[in-house]
Amino acid sequence: MEVTNCRDCGRLFNYISGPRRCPECQKKLEEKFQQVKEFLRQNPDSSISQTATENEVSVKQIKQWIREERLVISNGMAEGIVCESCGKPIRTGRFCESCKKTMVQDLSSAFEKPKPVERSLHTEKENDRMRYLK
Ligand SMILES: [Zn+2]
Ligand SMILES: [Zn+2]
Repeated sequence: MEVTNCRDCGRLFNYISGPRRCPECQKKLEEKFQQVKEFLRQNPDSSISQTATENEVSVKQIKQWIREERLVISNGMAEGIVCESCGKPIRTGRFCESCKKTMVQDLSSAFEKPKPVERSLHTEKENDRMRYLK
């Protein structure tokens, strides 16, 4: 265990993993997320900056939630949320559907090579599946 400063409030806390945020700030952020999610449910056409102002959250934080695929916005193009691979506007996550598909194919063709040991191959495949479906 490691003691570190919370990056939001500066308090010392026992750091285990993930973002360097104390449990209290983590909880607050999670409540904020639920609030934003609800706001977007009721105002599906809101822009990111509008959502940020209305909910007192930073635009950066909202974009991060979008990249984490926790939020889906109605119009990625207007907000510069684009596929990190081909630059196409997307509504959530980091890549567009077709790039995701290509990547999954690339991965599975890589797995067809007989080189790596069966066991590690399996765990890697599990991880990838989780990442893409989350
Ligand atoms: Zn904190
Ligand atoms: Zn793409």
